[in-house]
Amino acid sequence: MNLCVIGTGYAGIVNAVGFASIGNSVACVDIDEKKVALINSGKSPIFEPELEEKLAAAIKAGKIHATTDLKAAVSGAEIIFVSVGTPSKHDGGIDLKYIEIAAKSLGEVLKSKGYCVVIMKSTVVPGTTEGIFRKIVEEKSGKKAGIDFGLSMCPEFLREGHAVHDFSNPDRVVIGTFDKKSEELVVKLHDPLKSKTIVTDIKTAEMIKYASNAFLATKISFANEIGNICKKLGIDVYDVMKGVGADGRISPHFFNAGAGFGGSCFPKDVKALVAKSKEIGYEPKLLETALEVNEKQPLMLVEHLKKRAGELKKLKVTLLGLAFKPHTDDIREAPSLKIISALLDEGAQITAYDPQAKENVRAHFGDKIKYAATLKEALEFSKHILIVTEWDEFRDESLYKGKIVIDGRKTLDKKTSGDYEGVCW
Ligand code: NAD
Repeated sequence: MNLCVIGTGYAGIVNAVGFASIGNSVACVDIDEKKVALINSGKSPIFEPELEEKLAAAIKAGKIHATTDLKAAVSGAEIIFVSVGTPSKHDGGIDLKYIEIAAKSLGEVLKSKGYCVVIMKSTVVPGTTEGIFRKIVEEKSGKKAGIDFGLSMCPEFLREGHAVHDFSNPDRVVIGTFDKKSEELVVKLHDPLKSKTIVTDIKTAEMIKYASNAFLATKISFANEIGNICKKLGIDVYDVMKGVGADGRISPHFFNAGAGFGGSCFPKDVKALVAKSKEIGYEPKLLETALEVNEKQPLMLVEHLKKRAGELKKLKVTLLGLAFKPHTDDIREAPSLKIISALLDEGAQITAYDPQAKENVRAHFGDKIKYAATLKEALEFSKHILIVTEWDEFRDESLYKGKIVIDGRKTLDKKTSGDYEGVCW
């Protein structure tokens, strides 16, 4: 099929490359000229394992190209994905400005186009796709959803760091549909993925995404809360969760207590769901608490460091891991950012190292901290080491001889003793 993907960020580019790799022709559109040029040269605008190789192969095969020209990209498309960002506003509510702008431009170009299906891929609060998005597209195009163009909502469940694998091996595909004709086309598009497919209405599809992320975020905060209690009782929370996760009703996944969750999805999506709930008159106490636990969790590393080192003023500290998780360069809402800010407030001197995310953090903190080019250089800087992201290269115990290590991710398979301390164990 001929596809168009509007927005080539973390989610959009993975989908574009994924669908191109299974035989579709994909036109990518972005307002960022640099991303467009990178994609056309076969280079990925983000770091994600296997992505660049697949992108380069798809470009070579003529299956993918990028442009800033929406009209040209949409002209031959049977299906158009909208995958622009949906960040948080200051009050935590969803900021729909990119969705609204994309809807306006899309509406304009649909004026002169025959039937096609528009799929919302961005994470949007229930009611958005059929509400404001549809309204703007209909107004601008003079066309009717369900008649002149199809409308659908397919939430994105990719895990950054495993996104290419997840595209080809989804746990499930959720297809929210507005009309029968678009449903058939969207189901056909996803057929080659051979996944469990859940077809539902659009509002339900939108809510499935929020409920999934809210559950996983709550599960992590729960593990961290139990971990903080375990720490005070001298128990290793990982041993506890092995026993808890063995219960078939619970599952062992997402019980990794540590420095808290970050990334572009969990914090922003739970905040958006909380804001939406309040807007409709419901106080979501459990979700608010999950966020509150997560706000404080990264600072536990700083607390443990203080207990070990005393005064942090002028203390040299090495921070290992800046990305919100391994195998990505994404630092959005990363626990490392909160830890760096807290250490700077206390007057510590920081050298940080991450194999992928250093430049993104440099754009954030500038020269307030130092950035080591190698792990070796980072370790040479100080005696006090905080491990914030569990990259594989940090797992070698012999690296830390003579160092005081505070581990936020169970990177080393050790229990707290001597100069090694786990944040929740
Ligand atoms: P992102 O910020 O990395 O990318 C968004 C892209 O859209 C940018 O490249 C931006 O330049 C482009 N853009 C903005 N307005 C545009 C317009 N009018 N026309 C063309 N391009 C435009 O965001 P992301 O992480 O890819 O997330 C996109 C959506 O997918 C969000 O709603 C997010 O919640 C959801 N999502 C993301 C992930 C993930 O792994 N990052 C996972 C699940 C869901």
